[in-house]
Amino acid sequence: MSRHALHALLSFVIAMITAGPGSSTLAQTSSAEEALVKKARAIHEKVITLDTHIDFSPGDLVGERNYTQRLETQFNLPNMIDGGLDALFFSIYVGQTREAQNPDAFKPAGYERAYKLAVEKFDAVLRFTREIAPDKIELALNAADVRRINAQGKKVALMGVENGYTIGEDIARVKEFYDRGARYLSLTHNGHNQLADSQTGERDGWKWNGLSPLGKQVVGELNRLGIMVDVSHASKQSMMQMAALSRAPIIASHSAPRALCDVSRNMDDEQLLALKRTGGVIQVFAYSSSIKTTRPDSPERAAALAAARKEHNLPEPTGPGQPARFQAALKKLSADGRAEYEKQLAEIDKQHPGDPPANLKDFVDHIDYAVRLIGIDHVGIASDFDGGGGVIGWNDASETFNVTLELVRRGYTEQQIEKLWGGNLLRVMDAVQRIAGELQKN
Ligand SMILES: [Zn+2]
Repeated sequence: MSRHALHALLSFVIAMITAGPGSSTLAQTSSAEEALVKKARAIHEKVITLDTHIDFSPGDLVGERNYTQRLETQFNLPNMIDGGLDALFFSIYVGQTREAQNPDAFKPAGYERAYKLAVEKFDAVLRFTREIAPDKIELALNAADVRRINAQGKKVALMGVENGYTIGEDIARVKEFYDRGARYLSLTHNGHNQLADSQTGERDGWKWNGLSPLGKQVVGELNRLGIMVDVSHASKQSMMQMAALSRAPIIASHSAPRALCDVSRNMDDEQLLALKRTGGVIQVFAYSSSIKTTRPDSPERAAALAAARKEHNLPEPTGPGQPARFQAALKKLSADGRAEYEKQLAEIDKQHPGDPPANLKDFVDHIDYAVRLIGIDHVGIASDFDGGGGVIGWNDASETFNVTLELVRRGYTEQQIEKLWGGNLLRVMDAVQRIAGELQKN
């Protein structure tokens, strides 16, 4: 018997023993799958899993019904626990209206309104971590805090500001936001503001051709204080200028590579390489329309889907906050109701085919791409849950383990997964803090 044949026989015997009587090729496959799941579980439990972008409304966080309960949201503490998610950045997000729709948008009244909304969100996170669930979750202000709180078995909350619009024209507010706990800040959201051009300029035209003079000052102030410069939602020119200007590594808290999905919200290869040169990290996000280009549904398909949803009392499945509501309503259907709904969907797919939304594999394809282009040290993970994020397979925080499982399936090692799930981001946080210390000395 050749060594190869002996090895094969031994493997078979081992598989027989492991699988027990009645084993077959199928049992061998399933035991290989079990081993993979077991390996992924061990890694998932060991590494710090950090999601850098989750939206919330203050009412859900600290209201009568709040995130200690399983609300109909993608993120909440029960989902976080079920999915083995250890840490998250709550997004202190405030949108802005266009100047044409709101003449006050870039006047003191508009800034004041936005600032108050941001403060309300900062206060809600503080109350949640200090009063509502202090035994379960704690606010971290640096990477050392994240590691310490995680080691104590508690969940970790951090805060990042989405949209520098909220600081108005008062640069002192950057320091105020730092003192309130902000550890990243994106200069823009959708639509240009007083600091920078947004990616929406590819459709609307440009205001500053990158950063405004105040925006440049804000980058310096973020560096000086130790807040990570977040380039998500910025235009390419704004982003490249931030990369050139920043004295510390920059991040994209929730973005995706444009090479795989050509939308202005994503980052092209030149941008990703510039981000890498700063020592920074792109947190690839599970946002379906940034992951996969799909054709809109035909009117016939849209109407048939809407009719099926109506028949089963299901809400719209897309839009901010909707995926979780949809999932919750789906779970409430009886077994018969669910089977009937799925039969109708299959029939609709046959009669009026459409493009399915992005799934977990499409999402991890983006991680693979970014890793190949800029290296394992410069890529991380974000969901954008409750802000429009979620893909089939990672559609709420309770499904977070699926991401690790898919990474293990693709051959990523524990060390690599540790970097993707938070190690890289924490390294950047450490660097940003160290550089701020140096800048403050000078
Ligand atoms: Zn966003």
